[in-house]
Amino acid sequence: MSADVTVVGAGLAGCETAWQLARRGLRVELVEMKPGRRSPAHVSDDFAELVCSNSFRGSELTSAVGLLKAEMRVLGGLVISCADETALPAGGALAVDRERFAALVTERVRSCPLIETRSREVTDIPEGNVIFATGPLTSDALAEKLRELFPDSEFLSFYDAAAPIVTYESVDMTRAYFASRYGKGDADYINCPMDEGEYAAFWDELTRAREAEIHGFDDGGVFEGCLPIEVMARRGRDTMRYGPLKPVGLRDPETGATPYAVAQLRRDNSEGTLYNMVGFQTHLKFAEQKRVFSMIPALREAEFARYGVMHRNTYINGPALLDRRYRLRSDRRIGFAGQITGVEGYVESASSGMLAGIETARELLGQSPADFPRSTAIGALALYVSGGSVGDFQPMNVNFGIIEPLEGKVKGKRNRNLEISRRSLEIIGAMRT
Ligand SMILES: Cc1cc2nc3c(=O)[nH]c(=O)nc-3n(C[C@H](O)[C@H](O)[C@H](O)COP(=O)(O)OP(=O)(O)OC[C@H]3O[C@@H](n4cnc5c(N)ncnc54)[C@H](O)[C@@H]3O)c2cc1C
Repeated sequence: MSADVTVVGAGLAGCETAWQLARRGLRVELVEMKPGRRSPAHVSDDFAELVCSNSFRGSELTSAVGLLKAEMRVLGGLVISCADETALPAGGALAVDRERFAALVTERVRSCPLIETRSREVTDIPEGNVIFATGPLTSDALAEKLRELFPDSEFLSFYDAAAPIVTYESVDMTRAYFASRYGKGDADYINCPMDEGEYAAFWDELTRAREAEIHGFDDGGVFEGCLPIEVMARRGRDTMRYGPLKPVGLRDPETGATPYAVAQLRRDNSEGTLYNMVGFQTHLKFAEQKRVFSMIPALREAEFARYGVMHRNTYINGPALLDRRYRLRSDRRIGFAGQITGVEGYVESASSGMLAGIETARELLGQSPADFPRSTAIGALALYVSGGSVGDFQPMNVNFGIIEPLEGKVKGKRNRNLEISRRSLEIIGAMRT
């Protein structure tokens, strides 16, 4: 079959792009370099691999990422439907069994008659219509090729870290308890409490622990939304107690008391044999991760199924290069999707793949563009990435700050956010995409 569009990279964004194109009757060639070649963070052969946390974050319509997921459901997203089908209990968040999730996306994509999958590293710009969805760890050869395409607008980058995973059987449950913050959900997290002395000793060691050497890395080059725990610790003794080690709403069910600090573990697979350390993204040396994280009383004997890692995260200068449909302004034949555009996060990456797929299909079918407005989360993100930012361009998670404010006054942030979500879902529901 000769394809209408080549999609490069079968991650979250690439699979969603290919799916949206195929849904509209277009023939797609989806090219993925795995398993022949892998980035430093990818380990499985499946498509749509989640490289770190298994969480798609908050589900409620009072959060912008909750709204974005709801929009993707209305628009018939592949990634969101596979996430819903492989969801694990996680309080107010959507967390998935990462292996079942990736296997399901892979199966759906591979069995779609209009998508032809190929396994090879793309090192050149393919002929015809192409969408690059090669992610934050785009292979070096292709990154070089893309760099040549835009000599004036340099590639940008920051560092991103992944958190460790421990086995359930190695957690000392006599020193930990199940609970969800403020009782939301079904006590889905394992909570590992620390008293003041234990916390102080842990903090002290963490600030002095040895980091893995990464050329060019310094604390200023990290993404603020995904700070390594040791960088956070160095910002102050209590910074972690206002972040991932926040104890509020996590009373110990036995004593009824709120601990001084709490490290949370979130279930990582449906069997419940693996748990990831929430907010513990890190680039400490592996031996140091074991030494320091094992100072948390419930983790004294913890077995690490995977250690945290840190990687360079590459993206293009969206405001200088892209239009609101994630295509190059200078050559509309070439589009981008996913983290390489400068959106940040699993859900955001999938949403940009969705928009790129919908808009490319519409153009090739001779239809007018959908042009998702700023009053929708999916549209606001594309508008931000393609020009809405001022100053140095930074990767962006979806948030209500980039969405069109309400016209009238609504009292209370929660009510305002719910009203913005209601408005957006109404608009998206009425759009012909
Ligand atoms: C270390 C790390 C930790 C992260 N942790 C989180 C997290 O906890 N939560 C979160 O929401 N986001 C996290 N992110 C961001 C996350 O990577 C993205 O949000 C998401 O995976 C990006 O989706 P994508 O489809 O753009 O890229 P990916 O999912 O990375 O997919 C890109 C695909 O393209 C393929 N590819 C690359 N180059 C080529 C080539 N030349 N030819 C063919 N195929 C190619 C790759 O093999 C890969 O399969 C993390 C990123 C990193 C690097």
